[in-house]
Amino acid sequence: MKIDLHATLRAHNTFGFDVSADYLAYLTEANDIPLFIQKAEEQQAPWQVFGGGSNLVLAADLQGYTGLMQIKGRRLHDQTDTHVFIEAKAGEDWHDFVDWTLEQGYGGLENLALIPGTVGATPIQNIGAYGLELSQVMDSLEAFDTKTKKWVKLTVAQCQFSYRHSIFKNDPKRYIVSSVCFKLPKLWQPNLTYAELAKAFADKVEKKQKITPRDIFDKVCEIRSAKLPNPKILGNSGSFFHNPIVTSDQHQELKNRYPNLVAYPANLTGGDWKLAAGWLIDQCGFKGYQSGRVGVYEKQALVLVNHGGGTGKELLALAQQIQVKVFDTFQVQLTIEPVIYS
Ligand SMILES: Cc1cc2nc3c(=O)[nH]c(=O)nc-3n(C[C@H](O)[C@H](O)[C@H](O)COP(=O)(O)OP(=O)(O)OC[C@H]3O[C@@H](n4cnc5c(N)ncnc54)[C@H](O)[C@@H]3O)c2cc1C
Repeated sequence: MKIDLHATLRAHNTFGFDVSADYLAYLTEANDIPLFIQKAEEQQAPWQVFGGGSNLVLAADLQGYTGLMQIKGRRLHDQTDTHVFIEAKAGEDWHDFVDWTLEQGYGGLENLALIPGTVGATPIQNIGAYGLELSQVMDSLEAFDTKTKKWVKLTVAQCQFSYRHSIFKNDPKRYIVSSVCFKLPKLWQPNLTYAELAKAFADKVEKKQKITPRDIFDKVCEIRSAKLPNPKILGNSGSFFHNPIVTSDQHQELKNRYPNLVAYPANLTGGDWKLAAGWLIDQCGFKGYQSGRVGVYEKQALVLVNHGGGTGKELLALAQQIQVKVFDTFQVQLTIEPVIYS
């Protein structure tokens, strides 16, 4: 296991914040994981494991051991009459993996195309986009349990997934994911539940023309590229706040005050509503707002950006300013999506 001393993490987080790690360890095989934990514990040093750094706010130098998940590998693991089971190691790039599954003829992950980061991080916040959540396509995962020092296999049910949430959020230092197994149907059907995708394919659906997983993949990439800044050009972590969930009474009261309120039923059984956090922030006048070297993306108010040379501290100060204004205006609390290291 290669370890660098006092290494900058600038290239390892999509905001491009220039903080350093005391020890930066490259985890390239499964056995590196217990070794990494052992080293940190022997020295009673703190530790953390990152993938692509696309869901992090690094607001201070990191003490102790920082592990970069780089274990590679992907394969058809098993199949039944109805499903294929595909395994990918935690350090695989998520988007490349989705692309590869389609090349192999396995549809099912295409709605989650172009989400940055690694396979191993996808269960942590139960990634979701364009009408699909990871929990709908994951079968199980393998992880090192840092408490018992044993390897475990966790099923979807054991991961306790919900909106941008999982068992890994409740107990952040317990498991290090080493691989994820996906269960994809052999009889593929397009998932057009997301309104923008339904609209894009309405003509084909009406004319009963064939839609392929690659068609959906390309469309998702096209829509996402038009809406979200490319982190290689403008530092960001995608959506910075969760879409807040409110009760039906709260929703009605807000709707009375703001007839243009953008909200969706939070689940199929009715009751709670999910508010579009970007709309709330936009209404408070923050879209395109710049505060020194950080700011709010001009095309999408839900995305905070580093214009260059900004720091995590500056970004968190801006986030707080937005939270206060949104709460004063709508009495709705915004919570931050990326994981903060300060
Ligand atoms: C432009 C852009 C668009 C985005 N769009 C979406 C979107 O549509 N939907 C969505 O859900 N997210 C989105 N994200 C957020 C992000 O891409 C995902 O959360 C992604 O899964 C994070 O992967 P990562 O490897 O970069 O994780 P990191 O940022 O490196 O880590 C995130 C957290 O996971 C933990 N972690 C990472 N790897 C492991 C592991 N192997 N075992 C245990 N813990 C681990 C880390 O400790 C950290 O707490 C977007 C981000 C960007 C920059």
